[in-house]
Amino acid sequence: MSDEIRIGIIICDRYHTCAGGKCLRALYNREGAFSIYEGKRVKLVGYTGCGGCPGGNIEYAPGEMKKNGAEAIHLATGLIVGYPPCPRVTRFRDFIRAKYGLNVVIGTHPIPQKYYETHKTLGTWKSPGWAEIIQPTLADEKTRLLYD
Ligand code: SF4
Repeated sequence: MSDEIRIGIIICDRYHTCAGGKCLRALYNREGAFSIYEGKRVKLVGYTGCGGCPGGNIEYAPGEMKKNGAEAIHLATGLIVGYPPCPRVTRFRDFIRAKYGLNVVIGTHPIPQKYYETHKTLGTWKSPGWAEIIQPTLADEKTRLLYD
């Protein structure tokens, strides 16, 4: 049996031209939400956008990734740092878990410091729900600055 973990990444379509630089760097460095894979082998088997509001691609993309062996889907950090953050992020998580039986992690790379500061000023993540959502990608300031 392979000890390799296969994952897929779904990004917010507002950033559909993104080349995945921060996500892939964080995956390579096991930073942000990818720190859970420290010491483990990970293969990226899918990367796509949500399809634009209201996220039509969420219905099918995880299925394609599952066919490639994905065990977990990461909803990219862009969903939580955009202005405003995606209002559907927890629905996407719950849907993917229910429909495809896949593990879903909210977040990829560490939150960039400039987004952290603005959302702190705005009070975006003040609620207990949001505080929990940003936990995997919060990182420390030194790391966040590396992702600005
Ligand atoms: S805000 Fe949400 S639904 Fe809209 S494009 Fe971004 S991820 Fe997709």
